[in-house]
Amino acid sequence: MKISAIGEFALIERIRSILPRPHDTLLGIGDDCAALRPTAGTDLLLTTDLLVEGVDFTPQTITPFRLGRKAMGVNLSDIAAMGGMPRTALVTLAISPDEEIEFVDELYRGLREEGARFAVEVIGGDLSASSTLMIGVTLVGEVEAGRAVRRSGAKPGERIWITGRLGASAAGLTALRAGCRLRDDQIETPFEVSGSLREAIRQAIERHLCPIPRIREGRALAQAGVASAMIDLSDGLASDLVHLCRESGVSATIREDQIPIDQAASAIARRFGQEPLTLALQGGEDFELLFTSSWDPADVAAMFSDAVTVTAVGEIQEAGLGCRLERQDGTAIALTGGYNHFRRTERSAISTQPTATGVARRATSY
Ligand SMILES: [Mg+2]
Repeated sequence: MKISAIGEFALIERIRSILPRPHDTLLGIGDDCAALRPTAGTDLLLTTDLLVEGVDFTPQTITPFRLGRKAMGVNLSDIAAMGGMPRTALVTLAISPDEEIEFVDELYRGLREEGARFAVEVIGGDLSASSTLMIGVTLVGEVEAGRAVRRSGAKPGERIWITGRLGASAAGLTALRAGCRLRDDQIETPFEVSGSLREAIRQAIERHLCPIPRIREGRALAQAGVASAMIDLSDGLASDLVHLCRESGVSATIREDQIPIDQAASAIARRFGQEPLTLALQGGEDFELLFTSSWDPADVAAMFSDAVTVTAVGEIQEAGLGCRLERQDGTAIALTGGYNHFRRTERSAISTQPTATGVARRATSY
């Protein structure tokens, strides 16, 4: 059945029945506003991210359930980047009246499931009709008063750290663009692949479609006072490092041989004639955390389990040097800004490689 057959108010009731009753709000769906009581001694964190069909996703490559998970996940990642705890969400949806009702059901099930992983419930939102599908999630989080980790706190001499490994999301997008599809956890490819490459493609597409927000890691870093500055890697290491340095008024050098590149990303890059380093630097949407710290490296490493690695990739320097990548051959290249929604040219995060292929496109949170 199409949405137009039941109309807006019945659709709202249907969405309400999919979502659980909020456990910690004064008021959820049904009144003019939702109401929430802030936890004493905390600052509120507010973030929003809009996913637009044809710009941020293509419906052919992502199921509505995964789209719901991703829409929630990218916002959770921004709360993680402040060292915060997510609390509750509002969801705005613009969708065609000709869309099937089941699409909306699945979308909200995805939003619910990803939120539930971090005790976040959808407590309100808005609906409108549009020929272009758009999903906007607004997330409210909390952090101990005065303890939000900003982008602006990095100081010369501090090490630059990254959680996890990079490049898998961009490699997954490369595979999707090559016609690979993930259906019911099985990979379909339009060409022959070995068993190991098939598994790499499955992992990379999964990572692209369902990011893993580093909430626990961000919380631990903030509560221990380890991170002086932090950002989540949504646009790509090259670009997001530039953002952090600009806000902190510092320069940075990172080293090629220290950048943790995901194994699946490396395998896919080789198959499609790409440089793994390019996926790691420019790919975007890895949603790992980049932070700076003056702490002893052993003490930082001791905070992380084997499940989520942490790697020192370089150092913060005095202002005026810019952001640089030292290559293994001893040369250095300048890192500049990355993908920009409102510029027509493709991203050119590495100035010596103006044309990147298979790059992820990301909305910028600002
Ligand atoms: Mg962010």
